[in-house]
Amino acid sequence: MAVMPAAFFGHGNPMNALERNRYTEAWQAFGRSVPRPRAILVVSAHWYVQATAVTAMPRPRTIHDFYGFPRELFDVRYEPPGLPDLYDEIADVVHPTWVGADVDSWGIDHGTWSVLMHAFPDADIPVVQLSINALKPFDYHLQLGAALAPLRERGVLVIGSGNVVHNLGGVSRAMPDAGFDWAQRFDEQAKEFMVTDPTDVLRLDGHRDFDLAVPTPDHFLPLLYLAGVAGADALPADVLIDGYAYGSLSMTAYTVGMETPESSGSGFAAPLPDGPPADGANI
Ligand code: ZN
Repeated sequence: MAVMPAAFFGHGNPMNALERNRYTEAWQAFGRSVPRPRAILVVSAHWYVQATAVTAMPRPRTIHDFYGFPRELFDVRYEPPGLPDLYDEIADVVHPTWVGADVDSWGIDHGTWSVLMHAFPDADIPVVQLSINALKPFDYHLQLGAALAPLRERGVLVIGSGNVVHNLGGVSRAMPDAGFDWAQRFDEQAKEFMVTDPTDVLRLDGHRDFDLAVPTPDHFLPLLYLAGVAGADALPADVLIDGYAYGSLSMTAYTVGMETPESSGSGFAAPLPDGPPADGANI
């Protein structure tokens, strides 16, 4: 079985699920380039709870965990099978860290489906999510990512989905394709760490722009999982695509353990819907 790469995607707002732009084209190119996985394990910013758990239901439901978006987004169904047996493998590789099996609370959230609809549009590969334990410090997440690294050799594609810079309160609709200076400084520092020694991303909590770039940890933490996977195998990350949206979001995506696929998409990240305040939209 082929050794799987691993990746982190900056997912931006959920409308990217339905649009085509330079980011979604890169996600699609990624999906076409990887060997077919046995399963996809996603650490999504949107399953941020007070426990470490894995979805273990045979048919995970599509979750629409946002509001203020068009009806067509609520009609999206991304319904790949689950893989309940993967729970035992994950519990084994992360031991002695404890991980729970979730059979009825979560499913596939938009951090996952907004990316996978482009990367794996057929939805025929089993998808499992790993929650982000909100009670744990940053190094816990990096170490948990490292513990997951052996799954690469068992055909499991490990993906983080969040945004390196994610400040919804600071979005500027006048800057659809640009980042504020502080957002660029933080994203560039993250990039320098990721492409040299990914485990150094733990040091970002001391960055001068950390409080603006990471006002809440949920979208940043998925990056630590990829950094952990990369560090365990002594691999640097590569930039799949980079850029900014609405001043205060970074759309940067990384891969580990694969040739960077070419993509030629154009257009900026999906616009925010009119009306509701962005900081209440849970994107
Ligand atoms: Zn999000």
